[in-house]
Amino acid sequence: MESSNDQPLDWLHAFTNSSLHLILFMTEQCNFRCVYCYEDFKLNNIQDEVVVGVKNLILKRIPEIKHLAISYFGGEPLLNKKGVLDLTTWAKELCEEHGVKYHGNITTNGYTLDKKTFDSIFQKGITNYQITIDGNKDSHDKLRPTINGKSTFDKIIGNIKMMKKSPYNFECIIRLNVSDSNFEGVKSFIKNEAYAICLNDSRFKIHFHPIWGRPELILTQKNQLEELNVMVDSFGLTHTEESGLTDLNNNNKEKIDNSATKKGREADYVCYASKANSFVIRADGTLQKCTVALKDDINNIGKLNSDGTMELDSDKLSKWIFSKDKGCPLQALALEKLAVPYKDAGKFDNPISL
Ligand code: SF4
Repeated sequence: MESSNDQPLDWLHAFTNSSLHLILFMTEQCNFRCVYCYEDFKLNNIQDEVVVGVKNLILKRIPEIKHLAISYFGGEPLLNKKGVLDLTTWAKELCEEHGVKYHGNITTNGYTLDKKTFDSIFQKGITNYQITIDGNKDSHDKLRPTINGKSTFDKIIGNIKMMKKSPYNFECIIRLNVSDSNFEGVKSFIKNEAYAICLNDSRFKIHFHPIWGRPELILTQKNQLEELNVMVDSFGLTHTEESGLTDLNNNNKEKIDNSATKKGREADYVCYASKANSFVIRADGTLQKCTVALKDDINNIGKLNSDGTMELDSDKLSKWIFSKDKGCPLQALALEKLAVPYKDAGKFDNPISL
């Protein structure tokens, strides 16, 4: 597929049938209770018949695709380690048999990402990681405690340091959700832990994002994120504007047209929720487009059957694919009545994640 001046590259990537991106809720349970979390924890592990449906869907599509991306999501996906490992092992082997490029990505809170788990899932094709740390120990632990209210900072940092010692060629985005409440804690984290972890190690990148949906947790000064990015640059560390899910899709872009400049690609950014070849699959097989609007009916676009077929509501699906704001279709849809006032949340180009 070729791009031209009047066909932005991301539009081609959004519609090409040579790529398939599945975002799987491997479990909807979590061992954390982050104060800003929007999940309701009602569902458990991804159901067996849904895994069968995922495999049958991939088997149907494998002869015609060149890229398969699976994002292991939740809840906390590593609470279902066996499910993650089984599926990525199966998908990687199938892709190798068919000459298809496999991209495995996980959004995890990092709490149970010990060496044994990391070694096993990396070797089975999960090479991209997104782990959230909301500032230094004090600020992080206030925002991201365990379900029993305990500290999580030291354990996550220990696991990230273990990753750093490994020889593997992975990418780890350290995501920091920022508000006035943890702004100083975030700066302290950059100067100390992030500096020690990320300096001279291009496998680690830092991503800042405003907390949304909680009026008491906002950034009052518009330039605060920019200040943080400048600070990261001045320390010689790398920051990224893109989340793990977004970046995963970028892996495919060069294959479609490597003539596009990075600047051009960013200008044409299309959220995964606007892409015709990207689906969120909940633990009960409900098909959605967005990982944020979990409770909104507009997001329930259909159902995955165990034979791999999809029952899709084309009216709802088209609202996401043809929305006015490709960078965040949810913002455009927020003009309609949704359960959460997203339009008040400011620009967000990727999901608040784990
Ligand atoms: S934000 Fe993520 S890690 Fe935190 S409670 Fe929700 S699902 Fe768990």
